[in-house]
Parts: sequence; C-alpha cells; structure tokens
Amino acid sequence: MAGLNIHRNDTVEVITGADAGKRGRVLRVFPDKDRVLVEHVRIVKKTVSSKSGKNTKGGIAEQESPLHVSNVAIVCPSCSKPRRIGFKIEGDTKTRICRKCGNALPVKAK
Ligand SMILES: [Zn+2]
Repeated sequence: MAGLNIHRNDTVEVITGADAGKRGRVLRVFPDKDRVLVEHVRIVKKTVSSKSGKNTKGGIAEQESPLHVSNVAIVCPSCSKPRRIGFKIEGDTKTRICRKCGNALPVKAK
C-alpha cells in the first residue's frame, strides 16, 4: 500500500457519484480507510436532539461524510482541472507533480 497521495487542504473534485463535479478542500484524510472528508461534499443531514439543555434547539445539522479516494481526483492548482498525480523523488524528498503540466503540488503541511 503506497499511501494516499491526497493530503489535507488539497482541492479535489468528485469524479463519480451523486456529487460528481463538485470541488472542495480536503478537511481530513483517513489513510487506513482510504477515505477523505471534503468540504461541502456529500453533505448528510443529521437530526440533532434538544436533550442537552433548554437553550439548545433541536433541528437539522449538516455535516460532510467521508468519501472513498477513488471517487475524487486532485485538482492541479496550475491547470485548475482534476489531474492524475505522479511523484518526483529527489533524495529524501518526494514531490507530487501534475502529470499533465509537470508542476509540483503543494507540499504536505505538517
Ligand atoms: Zn497541472
């Protein structure tokens, strides 16, 4: 297992499913599940109960749910399109590059 090439704060586009074509920022990555949580994508409505105190109103809350990495593609910041991503290895540094334009993608924020 090579690990995910998608990192937090990447912009991805959904390529399959009901949300196809939607873009968002990656909020969280779940490497063990091959899933990512993408901002404004695959919103599920959750019913919130008002059990906890008088001031909390019950209602509907919206929340993203994780989707499988095979359903999204990284959007290249240079091409502004979802692209296949390759790697360039120089010494100890592995850089993600866009296979189309060859530009490097943002380095993983630590
Ligand atoms: Zn590109």
